[in-house]
Amino acid sequence: MNIILLGPPGAGKGTQARRLVEEKGMEQLSTGDMLREARTSGTEMGEKVAAVMDAGQLVTDEIVIGLIEEKIKTGNPAGYIFDGFPRTLPQADALAELLSRNGAQLEAVIEIAVDDEALVDRISGRFTCGDCGEVYHDTTKPTQQEGVCDHCAGVNLKRRADDNADSLRTRLMEYYKKTSPLLGYYYANGDLKSVDGLQNIDVVAKEIEAALS
Ligand code: ADP
Ligand code: ADP
Ligand code: ZN
Repeated sequence: MNIILLGPPGAGKGTQARRLVEEKGMEQLSTGDMLREARTSGTEMGEKVAAVMDAGQLVTDEIVIGLIEEKIKTGNPAGYIFDGFPRTLPQADALAELLSRNGAQLEAVIEIAVDDEALVDRISGRFTCGDCGEVYHDTTKPTQQEGVCDHCAGVNLKRRADDNADSLRTRLMEYYKKTSPLLGYYYANGDLKSVDGLQNIDVVAKEIEAALS
């Protein structure tokens, strides 16, 4: 089963993707994580995208499509969760083509709907474990012990450079201009299902589960 989690920055895509990985053995493909990894390891591409990412703008379609193409070549029997990809109509077209080239298809597109006001709070309270990638929040999902990851006991908790009010404003603008048209595109395809992302993490997970069954 291949699915897309679609929603604005901070909607909860990464959080829900990780649960699906644990529960269903699917593979999470987050272009944001891949780009951040390229930056950390100092590749030429990583250096090229750094300023664009910090400003909250989208990197080029060519780069992210290339990243996804590399990953899905190997195939995964339990399927992929596309998290933060596609973000533009050309990316959506490219994904359809890449999947069909690999004899696969898209089963569902899940919109996680969250209003803008809540996103500011989600983004400003977000931190993640640099060792295992678990996603936390200052108030809605704190670690049990301060500074220590519940999941892997690592002490490498980090905040993202782009999780600030300025960058979020640009990211939201990019979302409405370039990504939100995908909702209409997938609705017309008959693939779109929407869940209310303002509910707590477990309830959202249950609704996604129901939408997929
Ligand atoms: P969020 O979780 O806040 O939605 P991501 O981690 O998905 O953010 O993305 C962080 C940044 O990486 C984006 O602001 C953008 O610069 C870049 N990025 C990630 N995925 C894509 C994509 N599919 N197309 C273009 N840029 C992307
Ligand atoms: P995205 O990948 O869509 O950018 P994340 O999964 O990183 O979003 O979530 C953004 C922030 O909101 C994180 O700090 C996360 O812990 C928190 N969060 C995610 N889902 C919920 C929810 N349903 N209720 C409250 N907080 C949430
Ligand atoms: Zn961890």
